[in-house]
Amino acid sequence: MTAHYAIIGSGPSGMYAADALLEGVPGCHVDVFDRLPVPFGLIRYGVAPDHYKTKNTARQFARTLDLPTVRFFGNVEVGRDISLDELKTFYDGVVLAIGAYNDRPLGIPGEDLPGVYGACAFVGWYNGHPDYRDLAPLLDKDAVAVVGVGNVALDVCRVLAKTVAEMDESDIAAHALDAIQQAPLKRLHMFGRRGPIEAGFTPKELGELRELERAVAIIDPAQLPDQVDGEFEGREKGVKEKNLSIFKELAAHKAGIKPISLKIEFYAAPKEIFGKDRVEGIRMERTRVENGRAIATGETFDVACGAVVKAIGYFSKAPYGVPMNGGTIANVAGHVEDNLWVVGWSKRGPSGTIPTNGPESRDVMRKMIAEHDNGGKPGGEAADLLLRTRGVRVVDYPDYKKIVAAEVARATGGHPQEKFTRIDEMLAVLG
Ligand SMILES: Cc1cc2nc3c(=O)[nH]c(=O)nc-3n(C[C@H](O)[C@H](O)[C@H](O)COP(=O)(O)OP(=O)(O)OC[C@H]3O[C@@H](n4cnc5c(N)ncnc54)[C@H](O)[C@@H]3O)c2cc1C
Repeated sequence: MTAHYAIIGSGPSGMYAADALLEGVPGCHVDVFDRLPVPFGLIRYGVAPDHYKTKNTARQFARTLDLPTVRFFGNVEVGRDISLDELKTFYDGVVLAIGAYNDRPLGIPGEDLPGVYGACAFVGWYNGHPDYRDLAPLLDKDAVAVVGVGNVALDVCRVLAKTVAEMDESDIAAHALDAIQQAPLKRLHMFGRRGPIEAGFTPKELGELRELERAVAIIDPAQLPDQVDGEFEGREKGVKEKNLSIFKELAAHKAGIKPISLKIEFYAAPKEIFGKDRVEGIRMERTRVENGRAIATGETFDVACGAVVKAIGYFSKAPYGVPMNGGTIANVAGHVEDNLWVVGWSKRGPSGTIPTNGPESRDVMRKMIAEHDNGGKPGGEAADLLLRTRGVRVVDYPDYKKIVAAEVARATGGHPQEKFTRIDEMLAVLG
């Protein structure tokens, strides 16, 4: 009997899980559901548009979706168009791979003011995610503050700082490129609660700040230690040391030599975002680090800015009554309940890169196969029938290829593609 599996979410963790199932259960059928008409999750909508080569990881996943035993159910939101219980009835095993794309709050006064954006929304906006098409961030003042010192904070600052020419080979959404180029930006501030050694940057991404055409990255040399102390070993120590040497280069830069200054400031925790009807500035509190933790000192300072982007982490939202454990779906080694399993950011939280999801998805799928490879359930046929009766316009993989072909065809300049940023536009391509 053929085994049928459903994966909810076509991001990296879901696609690695699909590969593992196809390898582990020869002849099985795998259906990949996504709420959007286009697959690959944060590869399309998270990875920075000027890191287009990273998005090529999706090619291996595209080959998987193209296999005759794999079916893409795009434009199908589980919980809205079809329920989790229905999928559990139709499939031998169901895998939640829905990611964790909701911004963690700062929990400070003023967070709800117009002009405050989570990185999910802001990154989604410049990457053309349909949910954030109409975000229209307030970029009408000369400064933006970004809270967080990880790679996503770097992405946000870099995309804001780059010129049209520097973005020419990117797939940034046209509406965002226009808005950024029209913004009168002079200052970008990046704040970290802890010190330079604790920052989550990777050296390659940090190093890119040295090469910006219209922005100079600066750091107060007094915030930098002479060397990396602490209990770091091996690769982690190497990363910290490389970061420190780049920080030292940035500390030698002079503010004002380029039109935009991008200041990385450590030991500063957000205390309040202030403004009458919108963001007018952010109040920061100095910290010191003890045993790796930021301790507030009571000393504050204000930075005037027109927008604040929070890049401090993400959480998964409880889908369809599934038990949660903080910001992740409660599970034991990937098992949630019955024939339901979980992988990726919705399982372990927002950590790691695209490849990090591979070994974990394979591991969880091995366990799932051991318990649910018996077959006997109807699989995609039943799901298809139900979705048809409900009038859901399922976007399959050939449909997706048409959407991408149209995006490539309408791209201008050096841009590899100009994404459609509304679901209606994507469906219109399909007639
Ligand atoms: C801003 C940002 C930039 C990043 N840049 C890089 C980078 O440059 N390089 C790198 O290696 N890693 C990068 N990462 C990390 C990488 O994107 C993640 O490791 C990876 O995407 C996590 O995969 P996932 O499958 O768990 O989640 P996701 O990629 O978020 O995929 C989840 C999928 O589930 C779908 N979904 C959600 N709910 C439903 C539902 N109810 N029904 C159906 N479908 C649903 C979503 O539409 C989405 O397609 C970045 C992350 C972020 C946030």
